[in-house]
Amino acid sequence: MNGDDLGRFGFETRAIHAGQPPDPATGAVVAPITLSTTFAQTAVGRHSGWEYGRSGNPTRDALETCLASLEGARHGLSFASGLAAEDAVLRLLAHGTGVVLGADAYGGTFRLLDRVHRAEGHALWPVDLTDAARLDRDWPEGAGMVWVETPTNPRLDVIDIEALAELAHRHRALVVVDNTFATPYLQQPLALGADIVVHSVTKYLGGHSDVVGGFVAVDDDDLAGRLRFTQNAVGAVPSPFDCFLVLRGVKTLAVRMERACANAAVVAEALRAHPAVERVLWPGFGDHPGFDVAKRQMRAAGAMVSFTVRGGEAAALEVAAGTEVFTLAESLGAVESLIEHPGRMTHASVAGSALEVDPALVRLSVGIESGEDLVADIAAALDRLGATGS
Ligand code: PLP
Repeated sequence: MNGDDLGRFGFETRAIHAGQPPDPATGAVVAPITLSTTFAQTAVGRHSGWEYGRSGNPTRDALETCLASLEGARHGLSFASGLAAEDAVLRLLAHGTGVVLGADAYGGTFRLLDRVHRAEGHALWPVDLTDAARLDRDWPEGAGMVWVETPTNPRLDVIDIEALAELAHRHRALVVVDNTFATPYLQQPLALGADIVVHSVTKYLGGHSDVVGGFVAVDDDDLAGRLRFTQNAVGAVPSPFDCFLVLRGVKTLAVRMERACANAAVVAEALRAHPAVERVLWPGFGDHPGFDVAKRQMRAAGAMVSFTVRGGEAAALEVAAGTEVFTLAESLGAVESLIEHPGRMTHASVAGSALEVDPALVRLSVGIESGEDLVADIAAALDRLGATGS
């Protein structure tokens, strides 16, 4: 199953086969890991399609074809990390233009914009993207790109991609959606009008906390050509082995997401019923401000759940360090459940900025373990909080 006629197959089929036909040389059903950094030429400039490993590699091609197909995109490009993918996208900015960034976003994305691209002359405007009408009214002159996470990290706000794309395009700006939290299984931003999709492949696409990677999906040929130039010229590419790991992870994306989302629903319900919890942020609740939009643009509400605890930062730190099945660690989106304190961990770099995170907030990445064990584990950590009087 190659690039041309993938559209007629379902998501799960493409996740397993797209870009990975049985190897014509051996019949191997798993895409071979091609480690060779260089490829023989029969005459100068005459080659099999690959010349040099930074510019292109068969295992990377398989991954790019597969992920592009899952995002419903014509082009896909792999990078060495999510931030390397983001950096390549930000290099598309014209001189003197800047970026509107959602006021809740991954701390590393803010740092890249604030400390790297702003120093290169690109302005940065943090804006609450849940209020599209206000952005329309107060559109910052010179904004060339709107950078959207939805659901956002870590507050899990939901942004209406279709409405935002319509308004950004009227202002001649590109819309970039970081689809890391939702994955293409739950949400396909290009079909909703976005121009560019970025991923931290490190998360759900890899799915097993054993590979760092990034990905960009686009439909537009010109954008794809410019991104392809940066990918080769800057060279932040993933290794063939990393590409293989992601290809393997993606085969189970649909079943992992189904299970993780179901677990997240029971965990969110249990948190909501616990007296030590102040507020649960999860777009699957009917009273979440983004519920209707999430229902329209996502297949399910996702497996990330954030909550604030009574007792402020001290209590939040205690809960984050008090679980057994949920591992206290950065990152998200893998088979194992993780717990973290965004203010001190993933979002430490936004302290003092417009993106600063509530210190009472705890973030969960709900994995695919037994849902009962997860509920019991988080409830026990919250119960202990009560017992110690925090
Ligand atoms: N986007 C989101 C939403 C993230 O959570 C992260 C990392 O946590 C990134 C991008 C950056 O990806 P990476 O760590 O692979 O560079």
